[in-house]
Amino acid sequence: MAGLLCATSAWAASDSSTTIVIDAGHGGFDRGGIPGQRIAEKEMTLEVAQRLKSVLTAGGYRVVMTRENDVFVPLGTRVAIANSYRNAIFVCIHFNSAGRVGADGIETYFYGRDSLQLASAVHHFVAGGAPSPNRGVRRRGYYVLRKARVPAVLVECGFLTNPTEAAYIQNSSYRQKLAEEIAAGIRERFNVRSSTSSTAVATIPLQPYIDQTKVSSSKRSRKRSSKSSKKKKKKSTKSAGAEANATSAKQEG
Ligand SMILES: [Zn+2]
Repeated sequence: MAGLLCATSAWAASDSSTTIVIDAGHGGFDRGGIPGQRIAEKEMTLEVAQRLKSVLTAGGYRVVMTRENDVFVPLGTRVAIANSYRNAIFVCIHFNSAGRVGADGIETYFYGRDSLQLASAVHHFVAGGAPSPNRGVRRRGYYVLRKARVPAVLVECGFLTNPTEAAYIQNSSYRQKLAEEIAAGIRERFNVRSSTSSTAVATIPLQPYIDQTKVSSSKRSRKRSSKSSKKKKKKSTKSAGAEANATSAKQEG
């Protein structure tokens, strides 16, 4: 126990030159989530981001927020803030949503190989500390991840469209827990082994760019549906891809 505490403070000390840039997803007119969603994603992301800031600041970290209140900040500005620090890591906080209320779980995204270690560590703690299913660490070219020149991750801390997860997320002590787990991932990022080696990242196929626009993806699925049988069509509307579409569209839209 004493040894663990020792190691923890040693990491914090060696991290003193690192700036943690916290990005609370969405804001202002960009509410996040899917149309008609009851709980505003932008409010929950900011709330967890502020808690994360407190936890990290108390741990001696230098913290910068891309937004501190309910304002819209363009994605380009958010990533420029992260890139303006020589030694930074970029942590984007989001909550998921899907048309299917049963969709649930925690997932963490990264893009560059330098970000895999951070993604693995943050995911290890958040997914390990949450009662939700583990949807894994995934590689995807979200704008903020693609444009970041520093290690960058985007963590989806559960589905606001899932009644069970939404109930958790609306509880302030659970949001505090999420913040503490994300902070643990940041602190322990050099200690958590990723399931994928960073040299193998280049060979991981990127998930298809289903995150560009809602219009083009619905066009594609309509085209596909018209060619397939009724049975297939039914199956495709239930696919995880459809969920990803819904969550991704709001992500970059
Ligand atoms: Zn989001």
